[in-house]
Amino acid sequence: MAKYIIDAGHGGSDPGAVYEGRREKDDNLRLALAVGRLLEDGGAEVVYTRTEDVYQTPFEKAQTANQLGGDYFLSFHRNSSAEPNRYSGAETLVYDRFGKKLELAEAINRELEAAGYQNLGVKERPGLAVLRKTRMPALLIETGFLNTDADNALFDREFDALAQGIARGILSASGDETPPREPEPEGEENTPEEKLYRVQVGAYRNREYAEALLSQLQQEGYPAFILKEDGYYKVQAGAFRALDNAVRLEGELRRKGYSTFLVS
Ligand SMILES: [Zn+2]
Repeated sequence: MAKYIIDAGHGGSDPGAVYEGRREKDDNLRLALAVGRLLEDGGAEVVYTRTEDVYQTPFEKAQTANQLGGDYFLSFHRNSSAEPNRYSGAETLVYDRFGKKLELAEAINRELEAAGYQNLGVKERPGLAVLRKTRMPALLIETGFLNTDADNALFDREFDALAQGIARGILSASGDETPPREPEPEGEENTPEEKLYRVQVGAYRNREYAEALLSQLQQEGYPAFILKEDGYYKVQAGAFRALDNAVRLEGELRRKGYSTFLVS
């Protein structure tokens, strides 16, 4: 089973595209978490670059991915154009049209097309940092145009089908089997919030202390971010659905001398 690094594009002070109050960073995070969850349900290991509304430069995202050493890097975005309602459809961007990433991109596009998006194809974007700087096959998925009403309507109406399609495309093209999904047991549906385990490495009133620790962790390759909560700047790393994976990261950080505890 492959290890996937899931990146919700933009975040924090960078909203990405904005159209009539709708912010790309929110759509990206929602879809990234949904696809990540389905990949985990399929048995894959998944690490998220962010699960909160935090800012990271594209370079930081790529650097984190390299130091985590995933098999694939998947960045979630929504497209936009200069004029609203001018363009429509989904596309997937890659550094170049070769190898496994092309197979994954084509499989994802076919699934997005099946869910209703016009297939705009796989495009080469060698200038994008998250595609250029990552040392594993990297894809950037543009799920429709954020400033096209029909694309937003499709995104909202077919959200579950889109997430399932993307996950299915990834798992089939990467060679990871997709086991049949068990039906949810009676009475256990409606878990309101996805429970994710994170490792907290520090909490400070002083933002500068938190940022110093953050940059140290990021330089060592950990998917760290700052969460402002209860008057503290909390420095946390990783976000895992499986407790085992969070425990493994915590153990590694402790061996390096960090004092940590698990939060969820
Ligand atoms: Zn974007």
